[in-house]
Amino acid sequence: MAVAIAERQSLVAEAGTGVGKTFAYLVPLLLSGRRALVSTATKSLQDQLFLRDLPRLRDALKVPVRIALLKGRGSYLCLHRLAEARDSAQLPDRFAVRALARIEVWAQGTSSGDLAEIDGLDERSPVIPFVTSTRDNCLGQDCPRFRDCHVIKARREAMAADLVVVNHHLFFADLALRDSGVAELLPTVDAAVFDEAHQLVETGLQFLGSFLSSNQLIDFARDVVAAGLSHARGLADWTQVAGTLERAARELRLATAGPLREVKGVLKLRWDERAGRPEFHEALAALVTAADAARDAVLAVEDSAPDFTRLADRARRLSQLAQAFAQPAAVDRVRWIDLGPRDARLVESPLHIRDLFTEQRAAAPRAWIFTSATLGSDDKLSWFTDSAALEDATTLRVDSPFDYPAHARTWVPPRFPKPNEPGHPAAVGALAARLAGRLQGRTFVLTTTLRVLPLIAQALTDAAQAAGDHLVVLVQGTHPKRTLLQRFLDTPRSVLVGSASFWEGIDVPGDALQCVIIDKLPFPPPHDPLVQARSKELESR
Ligand code: SF4
Repeated sequence: MAVAIAERQSLVAEAGTGVGKTFAYLVPLLLSGRRALVSTATKSLQDQLFLRDLPRLRDALKVPVRIALLKGRGSYLCLHRLAEARDSAQLPDRFAVRALARIEVWAQGTSSGDLAEIDGLDERSPVIPFVTSTRDNCLGQDCPRFRDCHVIKARREAMAADLVVVNHHLFFADLALRDSGVAELLPTVDAAVFDEAHQLVETGLQFLGSFLSSNQLIDFARDVVAAGLSHARGLADWTQVAGTLERAARELRLATAGPLREVKGVLKLRWDERAGRPEFHEALAALVTAADAARDAVLAVEDSAPDFTRLADRARRLSQLAQAFAQPAAVDRVRWIDLGPRDARLVESPLHIRDLFTEQRAAAPRAWIFTSATLGSDDKLSWFTDSAALEDATTLRVDSPFDYPAHARTWVPPRFPKPNEPGHPAAVGALAARLAGRLQGRTFVLTTTLRVLPLIAQALTDAAQAAGDHLVVLVQGTHPKRTLLQRFLDTPRSVLVGSASFWEGIDVPGDALQCVIIDKLPFPPPHDPLVQARSKELESR
């Protein structure tokens, strides 16, 4: 690590869980005196680095390094929107009203504006979109709160720091949209380090693509009517403008759903399953007309408030996207449709992130370091280096010092329902109850989808009760993540059932956790359009 940093090399390093990867890159970075960007997979891992690991190491090494944390704008309180939310009657329910009251109290004293400071505020709380900004609705320099804006302040602090901690989502989102400060930061650093690098490809693909969704249109319609009624009431029929947009959104959803009436979860549809149909093209054409009409309406009152200029830009982008999706995709891109119960999302994605890293690495000499526990099955770590154009990087594999065969067992139950069979969640729940009963709790059950999570949790609870085992079943979504983890540690005989965010970055030391059950291996299904397109491309090489 130290050599790669000093000589500005590219290094891809794989070392198993618990080996000490984080300290292995942080110590040489802190000692090097070089300016650095560190990116990790999630916001909670970012907090862990910034609040725990970095201050400890900085104190131990006695180095005067200024560190900063930079998250996406959605993590920070937007003072302008908070003021608007206070006056608007749009909050969905009394819980949201109560959450808003808590945010207002906290807003008086916070200096960072990072919503993660509010204990117990659920990341998915419906109040969050009302008090945070997006690239679309931020007023930028026209904002009355620009001078004390938390988003701007976080970026300023990042630019002044020696070491900045970001996350992969922000890294890619910013390179694609240039909205959160990473794009300005990257040219100024001597070293860029990516922890949990195995997630880079998937995260990168999400952000380097383009999307058009019916929900995006509905949000736009809502913002048009809100701005119209607040700043230009009577100057246009805002309800009608919004109504046309909402109708276009509904038509798009219907055209993509085709014969599917009730959709549970999110279905990934192949592009050619829908895109050839006349109703699909008609829906896109109606969307272009609605977005163009909205653009004309807001441009006519542009002088009334800065909000209208932003809304006109959004209308233009929506119209351009709809026109682009009506044309065939380029050969090196893949398209598909994510169809949810209420939303339809058209997605176009590149097949890999090679171009991005080639371009970034060519821009200026700097150290590029990628670490993870799983980056490939050969010494060249080809699985990762191939997809990120890092074939020329130095690779390093560090063996684990832990005696896994003596301390751990992997067990695959024989004669078990297949994951796609209806009895599978209940069987997982029953098995979890049996094992956790023997182990007196101390068990995690991790699911690959949110859909099966309540089914497994219920089956587990029922089976434990039937067996007379007094297990405490803690389920993701019933309390904030941090509270659930603390309760797991504090409560004897507890079992935690979680999905997505519980898969990584969770630290339960000692005997508190004895068994981890996963419902199925988290591989994307082979008929996934992106997986299919990438396999085809690999075969053709
Ligand atoms: S500049 Fe943007 S993010 Fe900052 S307070 Fe204003 S609207 Fe909100």
